[in-house]
Amino acid sequence: MIRHAADGLPIVEREKFPLSAVNQYLYCPRRAALIHIEGIFSDNEHTVLGSVVHGQTDIPGYETVRGVTLLRALPIWSERLGLSGKCDVVERHPDGSLVPVEFKKGKRRRFDNDDAQLCAQALCLEEMFGLIVPKGAIFHASSKRRRVVEFTENLRSFTEQAIEAVHRLIEEETVPQAVHKPQCSGCSLFESCMPEITSVPPILARANRHVFDIAP
Ligand code: SF4
Repeated sequence: MIRHAADGLPIVEREKFPLSAVNQYLYCPRRAALIHIEGIFSDNEHTVLGSVVHGQTDIPGYETVRGVTLLRALPIWSERLGLSGKCDVVERHPDGSLVPVEFKKGKRRRFDNDDAQLCAQALCLEEMFGLIVPKGAIFHASSKRRRVVEFTENLRSFTEQAIEAVHRLIEEETVPQAVHKPQCSGCSLFESCMPEITSVPPILARANRHVFDIAP
């Protein structure tokens, strides 16, 4: 059976990749390729702390607090975008609106990957439930602050471009050469990747950025 989107156009089902790959790709395309093409993964203090923060939200269930139902570890997917994963928490408000909430261990990062990951969750929820999800939130565990993220047209377009880039990366099965950059110091794959040795010279790095980076 052919499914149709809210605009009446048929949804073409695609091979799905894990939603977390969007975040990984925006952090570094090589990191996404090492994980999803080469099957390499290792933990560092950042990934372990992240798992601890997600400990509670990884257990499926729900509760209602002041009229808002909190759905934990909700499985989500998109046939149109070809991705699947889960939301840490989805709030269902009395007016029927849905708000995805992502838990992060640290403060806001310099990169846009967390916002794009949250927006990808919203795009899945919109397709699954046939409604508009205008905003979500990121809960930063270290500061215990909740940051609202509006899903603007720019963020939606940026996120969809990133999703398409991950599809191309996985389909081509090519691991990009390393580019030694600030993100490397926090990357759990540093020892497998060895960017100090394997990175491209600066002039080629610029060309690499031109190919792999997505302007918001
Ligand atoms: S060490 Fe640097 S280049 Fe290598 S995968 Fe991690 S972020 Fe990318």
